Amino acid sequence: MPTTVIANSTIVTGNTSRQVIYDGAIAITDDVVAAVGPSDDVLASHPGVDVVDGSGQAVFPGLINCHAHLVNVLSRGITEDFGFPPDLPFPVSIYSLVSAEEKIALATLGAVEAIRSGSTTLLEMAAGIAVYASSIADTGMRLVLAENTDDGVMGPAYRPGQPPSGFSAEQRETKLGRAEDLFAKWHGAKDGRVTCFASTQLVETSSPELLAEVRALAEQYDTGYTIHLGQSRLEVETLLALRGARPSNYLAEHDFLGSRLVAAHCRYVDESEIAALGNSRTHITHQPAMAALRAVHPPIPALRDAGCTVGLGTDNNTQDMFEVMRTALRTERVATENALSPQPEDVVEWATMGSARALGMDDRIGSLEIGKKADLFMVDMRRAHLVPTMRIVSSWIHNGQPGDIESVMVDGEWVMRDGRVLTVNEIDLIDEVDRIGRSAWSRMIEAHPDTPFPLNLSPR
Ligand SMILES: [Zn+2]
Repeated sequence: MPTTVIANSTIVTGNTSRQVIYDGAIAITDDVVAAVGPSDDVLASHPGVDVVDGSGQAVFPGLINCHAHLVNVLSRGITEDFGFPPDLPFPVSIYSLVSAEEKIALATLGAVEAIRSGSTTLLEMAAGIAVYASSIADTGMRLVLAENTDDGVMGPAYRPGQPPSGFSAEQRETKLGRAEDLFAKWHGAKDGRVTCFASTQLVETSSPELLAEVRALAEQYDTGYTIHLGQSRLEVETLLALRGARPSNYLAEHDFLGSRLVAAHCRYVDESEIAALGNSRTHITHQPAMAALRAVHPPIPALRDAGCTVGLGTDNNTQDMFEVMRTALRTERVATENALSPQPEDVVEWATMGSARALGMDDRIGSLEIGKKADLFMVDMRRAHLVPTMRIVSSWIHNGQPGDIESVMVDGEWVMRDGRVLTVNEIDLIDEVDRIGRSAWSRMIEAHPDTPFPLNLSPR
């Protein structure tokens, strides 16, 4: 069994006492943490093994992203500034204008950004994941693949939150079939590094029959399921008109809440919904960076107090979990007018153990403790904006950058080392995605010349 020891480093364990070990070491045997402690002790108990000198670096548990849409990097610089659902009058979705090959490149680029910013685990929620599952799995990340379903009938210009024009049993079976195919191929693949969740995209496009099927699919595989919930005022209005209940209460009526569910956003939930989510021990994934762009701070403290486990995620456009942690800290301080809470250690815990609990993976990932998976990243502390580093968690969250991350390990394998992503030809991929984005948005404008496009794009 090959063992590597990262020694002479600052180890942020993420254990229950939030222990930080100075001049510490971590031993990794195969894909798990074999020892954590003072460098001298770990080196003495592991003679003759490969030693990585971690001087001047801090080792953190890998970040866990509970809500991502990797292909949506295509909308970078376009949709951030128009609210949600975006107030952009496109007659078709931009994603209908890109090929399967192009989706592979877009999703892979999103995964590279995730790795560079310290994510080791990511839940990808999308329709048509089978197209690019293999490519993102090859980046080396730990993945939870959640294939979206729906049975609400939507036209090409459908905007989330709107009522569907009807519900289709045939559409339901087709989408569930795709989700089942993804489970058959990927659940437990790559030595367990890739697993699947069941998913239905939106409350407003989910019939009671679909909710029951999605929950049953998750139970069949003893895994979780996910949904967008309470993400816009329009969604709440639509549910009240369509079902006579607010979104969370509609889900509660149909037995969809519970500890297998990871509900994304919960921005517009009232007290009755917070109580229902808390009492059912539903898990919440909070996307503070995207919420801030939408000018909203979800009632996260109240959801936490009600009994929900809260993890963190990115959502669209960017996959930077460092930005997510920092925004979680700042927006909650502003929303609660409390400069003392949360602390930097809190937001790191939310992005690690909090997310691990939300995904039901806290026995395997989320902290650097003996027996857990070796998922970690290393921050170079010798930076002008980080020294002095007596309290590295605070120093990094307040003053750091994702670019301070030098190396990333997933499942005991280096996926990034000394600033270089090892699993992807990054330079070529960046060029390719820039070309794909310019081409796709130009095609949108050419195909729909009458659409008032509110942005100036650079030439192709
Ligand atoms: Zn989302």
